[in-house]
Amino acid sequence: MTIPVILFVLALWIAPIIVAGKMGSQKGRGGLGVLLGVILGWIGVIIIAVIAPTPDVQRQEDLRRGFACPFCQEPVRHGATVCPHCQRDLPAPPPSTA
Ligand SMILES: [Zn+2]
Repeated sequence: MTIPVILFVLALWIAPIIVAGKMGSQKGRGGLGVLLGVILGWIGVIIIAVIAPTPDVQRQEDLRRGFACPFCQEPVRHGATVCPHCQRDLPAPPPSTA
């Protein structure tokens, strides 16, 4: 195999596996990302890009942007005065942990 052929194979087959695996792991779906990359190549990358993150990862992301409600522990955005989950009035926002 010549170098260009190896690069071609890398770009066409291995690169999407790596990209899809990385994208997937950011959404808590690393295994699915790799699988889609292996089976579908760059189409799999597109699918993993539009797929929703797992509820756990989504919750982590929400918590990173806001804080946990003191009553129900669900993520609430900074500046909210009423919890969108349990509808209770929230106290003054706690200091940002970021
Ligand atoms: Zn709440």
